Amino acid sequence: MTGKVSIVGAGPGAADLLTVRAATVLRAGEVILHDDLVPREILELASPEAQVVGVGKRCGSHSITQAQINSLLVSYAQQGKAVVRLKAGDPAVFGRLGEELEALRDAGIPYEIVPGITASAAAAAAASLTLTDRRAASTLVLMTGHNSHGKPLSRTLLDPQQTTYAIYMPGPDYGKTVDELLQLGLSSATPCALVSNAGRKEQQVRFLTLFELQFASRVPAPAVLIVGEVARPGILEQSNLLLEKINESIGSTAQIPAYQ
Ligand code: SAH
Repeated sequence: MTGKVSIVGAGPGAADLLTVRAATVLRAGEVILHDDLVPREILELASPEAQVVGVGKRCGSHSITQAQINSLLVSYAQQGKAVVRLKAGDPAVFGRLGEELEALRDAGIPYEIVPGITASAAAAAAASLTLTDRRAASTLVLMTGHNSHGKPLSRTLLDPQQTTYAIYMPGPDYGKTVDELLQLGLSSATPCALVSNAGRKEQQVRFLTLFELQFASRVPAPAVLIVGEVARPGILEQSNLLLEKINESIGSTAQIPAYQ
């Protein structure tokens, strides 16, 4: 009998930021195919009998292609296994979900998708900011800063002053990302928050302007860059001590501890 593939969002990388459904499906999985951003503490929730296979670039499978991952999913399911495809964050955001779904549909494999907390949501929580705000941002754009083909960031017809840009994979060249944002019509004084390891113990938040970002040292990966008025510390009516501290330290790194 054909098995089933569960495509599961693992959230930002802390086990307690998994959904209850994700944890349940993970425990029941017989084969777990995971990306390299999924940390050990989450993989440890799998059954000890499960076969756990890293298919990310940094999992030692440098040469594994998307086509090979697709065929692994199909062949394990055809062997009747309960397959869990575990992806960082939410599978539908920069997760190559479309290609995997296509392969499963073509092979007639049953599947389900379990959503997860995406990095920009975790980053917003880490930096105590809101991605939209009726006073400052009416639009949220999720975009990648990863220019594997050397293409510029996608252009938008939206009002850049009223838009929050959540940029996944913003490195390694922050200067290039800034150039591209300036070309979209943003001013170099636009505030931004650079959030590394959102929701994890190593979480770090840095508040900068786009001008300062050009010269900023890199923060550890994974990181998300949130650009727009919503990233101006103190713009919102959140007058707690934490934000006051951040206000004083614009341009420096605020070590905002993750929930332990
Ligand atoms: N599907 C994922 C995104 C995968 S692309 C999601 O929904 O979050 C990988 C990028 O996600 C990383 O390069 C980084 O930009 C971002 N990312 C993932 N986890 C993160 C975390 N804990 N903190 C900050 N950024 C993270």
